[in-house]
Amino acid sequence: ASRLALEHAKGPALTRDRVRIAVMANVGNADDTRMAIESGAEGVGLYRIEQAYIGRSQPPSAEELFEEMQQSLAPAQGMPVCVRLLDIGADKPLPFLGFLAESNPSLGRRGIRLLLEYPELLDTQLRTILKLAGHFDLSVLVPMVSVAGDMLAVRERLHAIATRQQIKKLPPVGAMLETPAAVLDMQEIARHSDFVSFGTNDLTQYAFAADRENAAVERYFDDASDVIFRLLRMGCEEASDLAVSLCGELAGRPDQISRILKCGIRTLSVAPPLIPAIKGAIRDCTLSHQP
Ligand code: PEP
Ligand code: MG
Repeated sequence: ASRLALEHAKGPALTRDRVRIAVMANVGNADDTRMAIESGAEGVGLYRIEQAYIGRSQPPSAEELFEEMQQSLAPAQGMPVCVRLLDIGADKPLPFLGFLAESNPSLGRRGIRLLLEYPELLDTQLRTILKLAGHFDLSVLVPMVSVAGDMLAVRERLHAIATRQQIKKLPPVGAMLETPAAVLDMQEIARHSDFVSFGTNDLTQYAFAADRENAAVERYFDDASDVIFRLLRMGCEEASDLAVSLCGELAGRPDQISRILKCGIRTLSVAPPLIPAIKGAIRDCTLSHQP
């Protein structure tokens, strides 16, 4: 890394008019987390739990999952860590759910939909998360929320498991905003969420009906378009006091940072190598209106 990059990596990210922006990292394993912290991340904004499941012939037990997550997140001990529940389905299949063939998997059982159909998968994660919350400053993120009922269902399960284990303090639970429906129903979703995070990769895919993996429709997949920014602004307005973050790839584009912050977003989560450049872009922004 260049001297300039290292300089930017150090210290908090403030805009020119001194608005503090939290810069977090998207990680999947211990190497990612280590690199993120070395690059100046202030915590983990998105831990993709998928890595603990992919490559296994059976789902991990709660003990195996705890081991894996504790190891992956260890470099971020003492910092905020946001664990996303398993986001499997569509472009991320699992061998032991091979029978789940659907003709249109991106619009089928993925993310929270799959977990609600297989509650044992959800329960293992929630039990592990409750145990990990004793070691980390932890929050939980729910993927592919499209209706408020998705959040309600997760909270009910979490509450039931915590009660059984006589755990009183529950970690904050947030919704990923990855479908236009979730953004449009922000007020209702906010009633059942402690925070929200825009997943602009999927939000763009579902807003434009353009598969994020399909190069043939790439020109329709524009995550920096006015359409997406209109959704971001709408979501932020309707979220009122709720903390709003952005963890899609859009957050890693220095040329878009000013626009993102002007929507009201104050937490960004990006791939570890991008952190110095994003902090640099934040320090170049002025958010207050210039007469
Ligand atoms: C997103 O959809 O923007 C996101 C961050 O989640 P993933 O890329 O893992 O689907
Ligand atoms: Mg997503």
